Amino acid sequence: MNSLSAFSRFTDTLKQDDHTMPVLFIGHGSPMNGIEHTAFSEYWKKLAREIPTPKAVLVISAHWLTRGTKITAMDFPKTIHDFGGFPQALFDVQYPAPGDAALAQETRSLIKSADVELDHDWGLDHGTWTVVRHMYPEANIPVLQLSIDYSKGPQYHYELAKELAALRKKGVLIIGSGNMVHNLRMVHMPNRSVNDFNRAYGYDWAIELNELFKKNILDGNHEPLINYEKMHAAAQLAIPTPDHYYPLLYTLGLQGKKDQASIFNDSLLAGSLSMTSVKLTAA
Ligand code: ZN
Repeated sequence: MNSLSAFSRFTDTLKQDDHTMPVLFIGHGSPMNGIEHTAFSEYWKKLAREIPTPKAVLVISAHWLTRGTKITAMDFPKTIHDFGGFPQALFDVQYPAPGDAALAQETRSLIKSADVELDHDWGLDHGTWTVVRHMYPEANIPVLQLSIDYSKGPQYHYELAKELAALRKKGVLIIGSGNMVHNLRMVHMPNRSVNDFNRAYGYDWAIELNELFKKNILDGNHEPLINYEKMHAAAQLAIPTPDHYYPLLYTLGLQGKKDQASIFNDSLLAGSLSMTSVKLTAA
C-alpha cells in the first residue's frame, strides 16, 4: 500500500511538473471590447483565472500581416491604436506589458521553416491588447507577437504553428486572435454606430459557416478548415480575406493528440462577424 501511495504521489508530481499550457483562439471583434465590459471581455477575464498563469503570452494577431515572419523582440512593446472612428477613450488606453527578448530569440530558433526576423518596430496591436488587458490587467506578464506572413497560404500557417509547440511546456500561452466569420463590408449597422458591432445577429450563411467551423474543430477534422475555400458555397462571404482566419490555423496547428477542443463566446454579431472562440486543453 505504502509503495503504491508513494508511487501515486510521484506521478502526481510528474503531472504538476508537466504543465502544458492551453492554446486559445480568441474572436476579438470590435476594438470596443478593449474598454467595455461585454460578455466576451468578461469571459476573457474568467478564462485567465481558470488556466495556469503563463510565464509569457505569444499572440498571432490578425492585425500584423507582413512579408516573411517577424517576432516582437523589444523590451517595451508600444500600444498600437490601429483603428479609426472610435471614441477617444479607446485611443487613450496604454497596455504597458513588457516584452521578452530572450523568448523572442528562442522562438526564432524553434521555427525552422522560416527565417524569423527579430522586430523592434511593431508592438502590441489591438488584436492583442484589447484581449490581453482583460486577462492580465496588471500588465506584468511579457507579451510578444508573431506576425502572419501574408504571402503564404493556409497550409503553411498550419504547419508553422506546430514548430511553436515546445513553448507550451515552457509556460507560454499562445493565442491566435482574429474572427472566423469576418466580413466588414457586409456588417449590418442600422444605427451607424460602433454599438451596432455588438448586436447579436447572424445572417443565415454566417450561422451555417459558424456551425461548420465548430463541428470540424470539435471533431479535430482540420483538413476542411485548412482548405476553407472549398468548405461551403458561402466561404468567400465569411472569409473574404484570410487575415482574421489565419490565427485560427495557428491555434489548430498546435493541437496535440492529448488536447481537447472546446468552444466559448459562441456568438454572431452584426450579421457577418463571429466571436466564436476555441480553447485547447491537454487532458
Ligand atoms: Zn480585428
